[in-house]
Amino acid sequence: REKELAKLWQANVLARDFFHACLTKTSYGKPAREYLARRGISDEMITAFKLGFAPQAWDKLSTAFTERGIEAKVMLKAGLAVERTSGSGVFDRFRNRIIFPICDLRGRVAGFGGRVMDDSQPKYLNTPETPIFNKRNMLFGFDSAHKVIRQTGKAVVVEGYMDVITARIFGINNTVASLGTAFTVEQAKQLMRYTDEFIFAYDSDAAGQMATMRALAIVRNLGAAVKVISIPDGKDPDEFIAKHGAAAFQTLIDEAAPLLDYQVRQALQEIDYSNLEGKVAVVARVVPALAEADNAVEVNAYIARISQSLGIDESAIRSEVGKFLAQS
Ligand code: ATP
Ligand code: MN
Ligand code: MN
Ligand code: MN
Repeated sequence: REKELAKLWQANVLARDFFHACLTKTSYGKPAREYLARRGISDEMITAFKLGFAPQAWDKLSTAFTERGIEAKVMLKAGLAVERTSGSGVFDRFRNRIIFPICDLRGRVAGFGGRVMDDSQPKYLNTPETPIFNKRNMLFGFDSAHKVIRQTGKAVVVEGYMDVITARIFGINNTVASLGTAFTVEQAKQLMRYTDEFIFAYDSDAAGQMATMRALAIVRNLGAAVKVISIPDGKDPDEFIAKHGAAAFQTLIDEAAPLLDYQVRQALQEIDYSNLEGKVAVVARVVPALAEADNAVEVNAYIARISQSLGIDESAIRSEVGKFLAQS
């Protein structure tokens, strides 16, 4: 069993080196190098993250691996190859994609993400669940960010590979990606070994906002402090930083809104409160957040603000908060 796992780790290191060589040392890697250059990814980052390129072929990796004595069984188990449905043998899972190695805390390569270079779908393809790749546990960039997270006392959580790498280019080094929108309890627990302050900077689209609310609930239940950045211009940190620079993003981090502020703002933004129904909906939305917040001065300030925005009595909101607390 131990031996079997060792084989998977070893296959992944070899695959990482294979993809990296394809990107940096071959003529067919040129479009991939150009793609990364267009997106502002420097050679330094390509080296630091050992980015790679999976060639446009069905069997480049599997043939190279077979030549090195790695069994098809191992390639399949590592998620690097897929079984052919007609005929026998395997073919490469990752083809014609930019490759992002995903490492565990100790820097071991657990899996990969692969991005297309055009608009084809799926945009990203990940290693499937394997004995060493459990997506719920992984955070992209954690191996190189955990020290800085401890030093700064803050973890910035973003959605994607490109967000982490763009932040790094500009010297923002305490950033990790949750590999998509679903932030998990497992990821939160791992981060909490290094800090108890989280700053979420998810994409500002609907999916990102929904995910932010879910992530907030998870982290708060674990007792960490949470702040939220809503990217004002541009869809995600990657685009924002490219457009406005790192200093602007650092300012967003420094001025990140506390949870309650974010939730109140979201509610007022999303719900049309021009009629009574809307007012009731806004109050229903913010009451749990108000009830759970523990700073009375802060809570009072928000109640005042909501009451003013909605044009209703502060006491009405207070009584709803009271009811909520009595129920829970
Ligand atoms: P880019 O800037 O290259 O478009 P992104 O990082 O902004 O990429 P998003 O579409 O916002 O990409 O997705 C965020 C993250 O979610 C990705 O980096 C990836 O980890 C994950 N992800 C997105 N789509 C998929 C998918 N189809 N399968 C698996 N993971 C995905
Ligand atoms: Mn997104
Ligand atoms: Mn994005
Ligand atoms: Mn992006």
